[in-house]
Amino acid sequence: MNTKLLHTVLFAWFRKHGRILPWRMRELSALYKVKKIGKTKVSVLRDSTIASYFTTKWNRDPYTIIVSELMLQQTQVDRVLPKFESFIHKWPTVHDLSKAKLSDVLIEWKGLGYNRRAKFLHEMARAVVHTHKGNFPKTEEELRKLPGVGEYTARAVLTFAYGKDIGVVDTNIRRIFSRIMFGTEAGQTNISTKEFFAVIDQSVPSGKGDPWNQALMDFGALVCTAKSPKCDNCPLQTVCIANLSAQKHGFRNYADSLAAKNKEINAKKVSATKKIPFEQTDRYFRGKVIDILRDGPQHMEKLYQQMEHDYTLHDKKRWGNIIESLMIDGLIAIRGSTVSLA
Ligand code: SF4
Repeated sequence: MNTKLLHTVLFAWFRKHGRILPWRMRELSALYKVKKIGKTKVSVLRDSTIASYFTTKWNRDPYTIIVSELMLQQTQVDRVLPKFESFIHKWPTVHDLSKAKLSDVLIEWKGLGYNRRAKFLHEMARAVVHTHKGNFPKTEEELRKLPGVGEYTARAVLTFAYGKDIGVVDTNIRRIFSRIMFGTEAGQTNISTKEFFAVIDQSVPSGKGDPWNQALMDFGALVCTAKSPKCDNCPLQTVCIANLSAQKHGFRNYADSLAAKNKEINAKKVSATKKIPFEQTDRYFRGKVIDILRDGPQHMEKLYQQMEHDYTLHDKKRWGNIIESLMIDGLIAIRGSTVSLA
């Protein structure tokens, strides 16, 4: 595919439809401007925010990028928005977070799930302050040594904080490239992961890595979505290989062909496996233990009784394993017969 065309089309789409998100701002206050309506002053969203991604050298704080990226792993943007603002309000810098107690961070994390991410964030802050004298590393290799920072988050920091022209390969971006260039879903292309990353890196327009990655993320979240892509309204519908190939096979568009394929796969899955409800999984019970402890330490036996009564956890052996796994993950502490957040 002609990458110049891809840049032109997606940047035009992004300028019109891109999302204004607080972690994209250099300062949260940059989101708003004060406007006078009659005699009253009100804060309104800046309408020039998206345009400014293209013209301003942002140099965002790597700390806010990592906080947002860890929150966004497995959690929807809508749920992350209020939590991000309150987290940054409470611990505005990596130094502030490094001085916080883990139990306070776990309390603040309520509602986001996957509590280990809160612990990673806390450990990351301490590592940056104690090992790197408060300065975030500037290479992918060094960033990836920080707790909780994998390849994706390291690349997000490099491009969103330091303005490097590299691809940020998340599930959205993988999906878009797999469809438009290879006509298939992510993981079904016949090239290696290394080659795939190279294709994505080569597509980054010079000097515009930041808005480019943000445009792709928004396009994947709003148009080329996982289950029901909006092919009818997609600005790439006439060049996307997946869409053209679906039409060749008699479908109206790729969304219809994907729906037909998913229907077939789901029918097979339902007959092959009986799905365990989320409320019976260890992850659910682990989350509930942390929720109870957010209100304060508990006697071990009373905690088990509450889990049994409120959440129908009746298996003592399983209860023991859950408590042990939370201890191993460093999320809880046990002193005598009292359990508390770590
Ligand atoms: S045409 Fe459909 S599959 Fe192709 S990029 Fe657009 S939304 Fe995605």
